[in-house]
Amino acid sequence: MRFYNALLCSNSSTLAKVLKADIAMSTISKKCWSAEFLDAFHGLERSSDFQHRVRAFQTIPQSHFVVDVRKRLRSIWYQANQLGNEDQMDKAAIYHNWVALPLRSVTVDGPPFSVPRYLHLDLGKQTQRNVARFRLHSHALRVETRSWEHHDGTCDKCGLQVIDDEKHALFLCPCIQMCSLRLQFADLFHDLPMAHKITVNQSGSFYFSQACSEDVSIFFQKQTIDSYRFISELMDVFLMAGVHQQPEQSNYLAEGQT
Ligand SMILES: [Zn+2]
Repeated sequence: MRFYNALLCSNSSTLAKVLKADIAMSTISKKCWSAEFLDAFHGLERSSDFQHRVRAFQTIPQSHFVVDVRKRLRSIWYQANQLGNEDQMDKAAIYHNWVALPLRSVTVDGPPFSVPRYLHLDLGKQTQRNVARFRLHSHALRVETRSWEHHDGTCDKCGLQVIDDEKHALFLCPCIQMCSLRLQFADLFHDLPMAHKITVNQSGSFYFSQACSEDVSIFFQKQTIDSYRFISELMDVFLMAGVHQQPEQSNYLAEGQT
């Protein structure tokens, strides 16, 4: 787009003639530069206006173009939102609804996405990798391992016979390791309804009888060092659950050792 605007502003009459000829050719050939350029506007809010400007040899306002491209970029998350039903959510929908940070409004000044805080913190490689894997659904919870192992995805650490997903691991799994871990990081759970909190022994270890998608989302918006440490230790608990079935994956690439 900048290149096109620069062509229009060029003081070379030859260049202007070449551009006009190429734009004229776009009506009969889809392989010329202008045809591909016009095609790239597809899906933008002002696509017809931009295409009209190109055919009329007018410059394209950069601020309008940037905002439209950012709107198109974040539109995939609106599609993910349409799916609604928790059982039918794919990875993109789970990411968007559970662990992604809220989208910013679309302006010309900055991207509509925020960089998660853990990427700026000195948490150590192990914690940072665990948090990243959990957020990206690249973990050893059985909702994920069922795609390559022979089981139905239900949790093997408790007897609830429910899917072992992020929500189950964070709040609902009553296995002793997770209940103890929640007690260790009890401050992270103060905003959940106490009516749903179930204490399992005299030490005060606990789990929740129910939680909703919004609870997972609120948990991930905390972005505190403790919330990241909790996620990392949770990953270690659930990784150990499957360690007899699959060898631990190499850290070689994740640590950037090439
Ligand atoms: Zn469980």
